[in-house]
Amino acid sequence: MITGLTWEAIGKTPLIKLESLSKHSGCEIFGKAEFLNPGGSVKDRTALGIISEAREAGLLKPGYTIIEGTAGNTGIGLATIAPQMGYCCKIVMPNNQSQEKYDILKALGAEVIMVPPCPFANENHFYHTAMRLAQTTPQSFWANQFENTANYRVHYQTTGPEIWEQLKGQVDAFVSAVGTGGTIGGVSKFLKEKNPKVHIRLADPLGSGLYSYIKEGAIASAGSSITEGIGIMRLTENFKAAVVDDAFQVTDQNMLSTVYHLAKCDGLLVGTSAGINVFAAYQYAMENKNSGKKIVTILCDSALRYQSKLFNEAFLKEKGLVKNLLF
Ligand code: PMP
Repeated sequence: MITGLTWEAIGKTPLIKLESLSKHSGCEIFGKAEFLNPGGSVKDRTALGIISEAREAGLLKPGYTIIEGTAGNTGIGLATIAPQMGYCCKIVMPNNQSQEKYDILKALGAEVIMVPPCPFANENHFYHTAMRLAQTTPQSFWANQFENTANYRVHYQTTGPEIWEQLKGQVDAFVSAVGTGGTIGGVSKFLKEKNPKVHIRLADPLGSGLYSYIKEGAIASAGSSITEGIGIMRLTENFKAAVVDDAFQVTDQNMLSTVYHLAKCDGLLVGTSAGINVFAAYQYAMENKNSGKKIVTILCDSALRYQSKLFNEAFLKEKGLVKNLLF
């Protein structure tokens, strides 16, 4: 494909067979290489979906400022598209995310507003701060990735069908973590419509409330995680679109071992949420050992986005994490 516009290169990502884990489990585990999107993450799709629908609805007009509260990747997606479409971006982020994300956003020309991390109920949460900023900024558009259902629709229209076509309909299970719920919402809805037998498993880091919601019907959490962009304590409109069969909780140590395992054994550099996803997919494969099942998950972004944390000995030591492999 030849294109003159950056955003035209979003999507149609390769599905990579995770060879070492597939061999070990006797299943076929595939990772959708979303880190290959122009802005480097699965959230480029969300950004394009939200912008496209807002333009069509007349909510986003030439010269407008796009405002969003984000752990970083949706902001980067929006800021990747904005220059060629003639928009500015103001991005509100918690101040504890990896330094790489702030640097990337600034390079893309976005204005970054940092707020202290706090519970959703606190009015200073990045979500509420972004909403207020949009209310007081003339000629602006609030992307609102959590509640704007253009988010799950773009995964229903692109990510789901791509997976289905790449495996010629031979999908047994799909595994995904949740940030806004857009990915699992759109992909699970698409796959279940194609084949209700496809098993959908939610992968949750510690500190997130969805694992207990799926298992016991009530949002509750314990512990914490260094992962970024995933884990949530409320049900969003995008998550409500999801059809989930089961949930699996993944510790940061298992996430880190997966990240180092994929790097050393498969030559794949994946970020923290992808580490959660792949470990949960591998766990599902081990539960179905030697069944040959085809299990798909999302490689949301790259380890390079978290170099200052994932490849930082002092940081890992402080968090009590050990660099080892899965086997
Ligand atoms: N991984 C990363 C690194 C992310 O930034 C996000 C989005 N916040 C996700 C996973 C989760 O995707 P979704 O919002 O579609 O649930």
